[in-house]
Amino acid sequence: MNRSETLFEQAQQTIPGGVNSPVRAFKGVGGTPVFIDSADGAYLFDVDGKKYIDYVGSWGPMILGHNHPEIRKAVLAAVDKGLSFGAPTASEVEMADLVADILPCVDQVRMVNSGTEATMSALRLARGFTGRDKFIKFEGCYHGHADCLLVKAGSGMLTFGEPTSPGVPADFAKHTLTADYNKLDSVKELFESNKGEIAAIILEPVAGNMNCIPPVPGFLEGLRALCDEHGALLVIDEVMTGFRVSLTGAHGYYGVNPDLVCLGKVIGGGMPVGAFGGRRDVMEHLAPNGPVYQAGTLSGNPVAMAAGKAQLNLLQQEGVYDALTAKTEKLINGFKAMADKNGVPMTTNTVGGMFGFFFTTEAQVTNFEQVSACNMDHFKAFFHGMLEEGINLAPSAFEAGFLSLAHSDEDIDATIAAADRVLAKIATM
Ligand code: PMP
Repeated sequence: MNRSETLFEQAQQTIPGGVNSPVRAFKGVGGTPVFIDSADGAYLFDVDGKKYIDYVGSWGPMILGHNHPEIRKAVLAAVDKGLSFGAPTASEVEMADLVADILPCVDQVRMVNSGTEATMSALRLARGFTGRDKFIKFEGCYHGHADCLLVKAGSGMLTFGEPTSPGVPADFAKHTLTADYNKLDSVKELFESNKGEIAAIILEPVAGNMNCIPPVPGFLEGLRALCDEHGALLVIDEVMTGFRVSLTGAHGYYGVNPDLVCLGKVIGGGMPVGAFGGRRDVMEHLAPNGPVYQAGTLSGNPVAMAAGKAQLNLLQQEGVYDALTAKTEKLINGFKAMADKNGVPMTTNTVGGMFGFFFTTEAQVTNFEQVSACNMDHFKAFFHGMLEEGINLAPSAFEAGFLSLAHSDEDIDATIAAADRVLAKIATM
C-alpha cells in the first residue's frame, strides 16, 4: 500500500467516509483519493512524492496558482498581528470597498465563511425583504448544503419540491421550486402558477456543478425580466464564477445585473471565505440595522481578509483575464483535438478560466439531462488515465475544471500530450 492508501484506511476510522467533503472520496470514479502534502504554482505534490499538474485549484480559489508568494506574504503579515478579534477591523472595510469597486452591482457586502453561508443568507434576506417564502432554483445547479437548497423537483412541474437528503424536512423543501437550466419557459410556468409568492430566483450564471454549462443567449436576460415583472429578486450565485469567468464575474461578462450576488472561492485566496452583497435597500434589511438575522463569529477574519485582498488586488492587473482565457482555451481545444484524432466523441465548453468536457456525440451540451447521459465509463477511464500521467482533474463528470495563471504553455502541452495517450487507450475500450 502506498501512503495515500494507508492514510485513507486510517481516515475512515475517524472521519465519515475518510473525507471532510464528499466529492473528495472518489465515489464517482472509484479508487483511492490522493492525499496531498503540498502545492506550488500549477502543481500538487502527494504524500508519496508524486507531482501533478492541477486543474482543480482547490475547487476554484487558486486562480493565481498555489501558494502565491504575495498572498503568502500578506497572510503571514496578518498572522503576526493576531488570528481573530471578533471586532471590526480596517482590513474588512478595505475588502468591502474593494468588492464594491470591482462589482458595480454591489453597494454593500457582508463577509461569511463559506459559499453555503453566502447563498443561505442571501436567500433568507431575499425572503425577508420580499415577505415571500418560495424561490426558484435550477436542476443541476449547486449552491451549498443549506436545507432549502438540498431540494429537487417533485414529479411533475407543479408539485412541491422534495428533499435530496434525509434530514431536510419536507415542510422546508416545499418552498423550493425547481426549473430546467437554460429553459426560460420552465421558469415562466412557475411564476404563473405561484403568482405573488416567489421571493427570488437563484442560479449559477455559468453552471459549474453539472460540468461546465454556459447560459444560452437570452437566458439570463429573460430571468432578469421575469424577476422585474413579478417583483422577485435575482440572486446570482457567483461562488464559483466570481473573479473567475471575468473580473466582474459571469454577470459582468454577460451584462446582466443581479439584485444580490453570492461570492466565495476566489474572494478568499484559499482561506475559508464567502460573501453576499448587492442593492443597498435590500442589504439594509440585514441585522444589526434591519430585521433579517445573520451573523458569524469568525466572519471577516483578518487572516482570511488579507489573503482575499492580496488575490483581488493582483487580479485587477491588466491582461489577467485575457491570459487566463487563452490558457483555458488552449487546454480545452487540445483535449478536443486529441479526442477527434483518436475517434472518441467529445464536446467541450469554456468561459474565462473555467472549462468542461463531455464524452458525448451531442454537438452542444446545455442542460443537466444531457450531462447525465454522457459516457461515464469514458470519463472514469480518462480521469484515472490522466491521474496516472500526473494530471489532476476533478474526480467527477459533474464538476467544472479550472486553470490558473501559473499554468505555463509547457504544462498545458504536457497535459494535452497525456490526453492523447489516454484517449488512444479509451478508443480501444
Ligand atoms: N455555490 C456554488 C456555485 C458552488 O460551486 C459552491 C461549492 N462548490 C457553493 C455555492 C458552496 O460553497 P462552499 O462549499 O464553500 O460552502
